[in-house]
Amino acid sequence: MVLADDRLADARRRFGYELVKTAVTQAQQRARDGLIGPDEVVQATLAALPVRPAGPRPVLNATGVLLHTNLGRAPLSAAAREALDTAAGTTDVELDLSTGERGRRGATALAALAEAVPAAEAVHVVNNNAAALVLAATALAAGREILISRGELVEIGDGFRLHELIASTGARLREVGTTNRTSLRDYGDAIGPETGLVLKVHPSNYRIEGFTSAPPITGLSALCTARGVPLLGDIGSGLLEPEPLLPQEPDAATWLRAGADLVTASGDKLLGGPQCGLLLGRSELVHRLRRHPLARALRVDKLTLAALEATLRAPDTPTRTALRAPAADLRRRAGALAERLRAEGVAATAVDSRAVVGGGGAPGVELLSSAIAVDSRLAGPLRQGDPPVVGRLDQGRLLLDLRSVPAEAEPALLSAVVRACR
Ligand SMILES: *Cc1c(COP(=O)(O)O)cnc(C)c1O
Repeated sequence: MVLADDRLADARRRFGYELVKTAVTQAQQRARDGLIGPDEVVQATLAALPVRPAGPRPVLNATGVLLHTNLGRAPLSAAAREALDTAAGTTDVELDLSTGERGRRGATALAALAEAVPAAEAVHVVNNNAAALVLAATALAAGREILISRGELVEIGDGFRLHELIASTGARLREVGTTNRTSLRDYGDAIGPETGLVLKVHPSNYRIEGFTSAPPITGLSALCTARGVPLLGDIGSGLLEPEPLLPQEPDAATWLRAGADLVTASGDKLLGGPQCGLLLGRSELVHRLRRHPLARALRVDKLTLAALEATLRAPDTPTRTALRAPAADLRRRAGALAERLRAEGVAATAVDSRAVVGGGGAPGVELLSSAIAVDSRLAGPLRQGDPPVVGRLDQGRLLLDLRSVPAEAEPALLSAVVRACR
C-alpha cells in the first residue's frame, strides 16, 4: 500500500490524505503505463506534490524597516511562538481550573498587562488599536461629540483615516485648533454638554515642525477633569514605558501618569507582540468598554492572548533587540558577511546605512545601521528565492540592511544571496 509508505508520512501530515492519494494514483498510473518503474512510485508522488503547503511564507526582512506592515509588523519572540503552539490546542483560556467554573477570558494575559503598566487601574485587549478606538468612541461618545486637534487627523495607512474610522461609530468629530497649533483654550472653548470624549492622537507616522504647539497632557487632563469629560490618548506605538532610544515616542505609563483617563496602543508595533489593541486606564471606563456589546465583536483570539502574555513576560523581543543593537556590532556583522560573500564570488560591500522603526512609529528617527550593498538586479531573484529576501534599493544598489535581520538569520541570508547570484 503506497499511501501508507513511511516516506509519505510527512506529506500526508502537510498536505492532507486526499491530495497525497491523488498524487499516488497518478504516479501508479504512470507506472502501469511504463513511464516509471514500480519502485519509483513514491518518489514520483513526492515530486508531484507542491514544494511547500500554501500559506504565508517566511520572509527575511533586510529592508532596514524594523516594523514593516507589509511583512506583518513585529516578528514574535521565541517565547511567544512557543506560547502560540501551546495555545493552539484546548486551553484554560476561559476556565478556572481550581473551581471548574467559567473564568475571566485571558485572565493571565490581562494580569501580565496590568503588571507591566502599574499606572493603569484596569486593562482590556481587543483586535487592534483601531478596534480599541472604535470601542471607546462607541461606548463613550456615540451620538455625541469627540474633540480632536486639527494637527492630529492621522491617516494610518492604506487609505484608512482615524477620524473617518471614528465617525463610522456615530460619534461626531469636532476639530479644534489648527494644523500646526492647538491651545488649551481651543479645547476649553469647544467642550460642552455634547462632548463625550476628548481624543489626543500621537502623530505616529509624520512630524509637524516649526511654529507648532499643543497643550501637554497634564494641562489637557486638568481641563477634562474640571469639565467631567474623559481624555483618551492614542499612543499608537505600544511602548509601555519610555524607550531611551526614542525620546519623542510616547509611552502608556507616562501618558496615564500625566492624567489620560484611557490610553490605546497597538500590540504589534514597538511592544513587539501579536496584532492586538491595548486599552489601559481608569477602571470605571475600562469596565464600561469591556461590558459594551461591541466588545464581543472585537474580542481577541486565544492565540493572540497567549502570544501577548509571553511577550509581556519576556519583553526582550526581536523588535527590541533590533532597535537596541549597537551600531558597531552591525558594522562588524556587515564586514564579516560581505567578506564571506566575496569569498563565494559575489560582488558585495559593507556600507553604512540608516534604518527606521517604520510601521507608524518614531517618524524622522534614523537608526545608524550597516548593510551589504549588492547589484540591484538581485532584487527580483532574492525576493523570489527560498526564503524570500526583501532589501531596499538605494542609489542604484540593493542594500541588505542588517538592523532588521536577526543575527541567527545570517546564514540563511548568506546562502540566499549566493543562490540569487547563480
Ligand atoms: C498604528 C496606529 C493606529 C492603528 O493601529 P492598528 O493596531 O494597526 O489598528 C492607530 N493610531 C495610531 C496613532 C497609530 O500609530
